[in-house]
Amino acid sequence: HNPNVQRFNVVVLGAGGVGKSALTFRFAKNSFNELYNPTTEETYCRDIFLNGERYAMEIVDTAGAEQFTELNEQYVRAAHGFVLVFSLTYQASLREIDDIRKQVSRVKGANADTPIIVVGTKLDLVHEREVTRDKIRQLVNKWGITFYETSAKQNWHISDVFQDLLAQMRDRYKDV
Ligand code: GDP
Ligand code: MG
Repeated sequence: HNPNVQRFNVVVLGAGGVGKSALTFRFAKNSFNELYNPTTEETYCRDIFLNGERYAMEIVDTAGAEQFTELNEQYVRAAHGFVLVFSLTYQASLREIDDIRKQVSRVKGANADTPIIVVGTKLDLVHEREVTRDKIRQLVNKWGITFYETSAKQNWHISDVFQDLLAQMRDRYKDV
């Protein structure tokens, strides 16, 4: 690894089956397939550019029903940014985001201003959509954070998520 490149740790959190692995895999490997193991924690590393500068992003794709295991808490503590994932096809997964965000700020404590992006997945499954844009806005507006509607399958807006997060982390940690 190039030591001159600034590294950012990103943790992907969300309910089971919402598409965390598909999203991470699409960004890290530019592929959509079912070869990843749904039950294991996986870390990916990818170079990413902002204003012509290279950065390294290390992305932890969390797994398992329990969001805040001891292992996850370690990742959360070390994270510079978070992607909170829900499925546009599953209303209850949006409500879980609310909980997850609370747990993140509990673990981060004084560093509660860590950048967070909310991502709705499976935008391509139009006929199965359960979550309206208004519902998402209601939730994220009270936290003042941005959200994206994406499809890992179709590669819609996936890179936007990570570019936006990188810009926010760059801003947040520029004096570190
Ligand atoms: P995780 O448990 O949150 O990591 O969820 P996965 O990434 O394993 O995805 C769960 C299921 O949803 C898998 O069958 C994926 O193929 C499917 N899936 C994930 N993202 C998308 C998407 O953008 N579009 C469609 N149609 N299916 C998706
Ligand atoms: Mg997974």
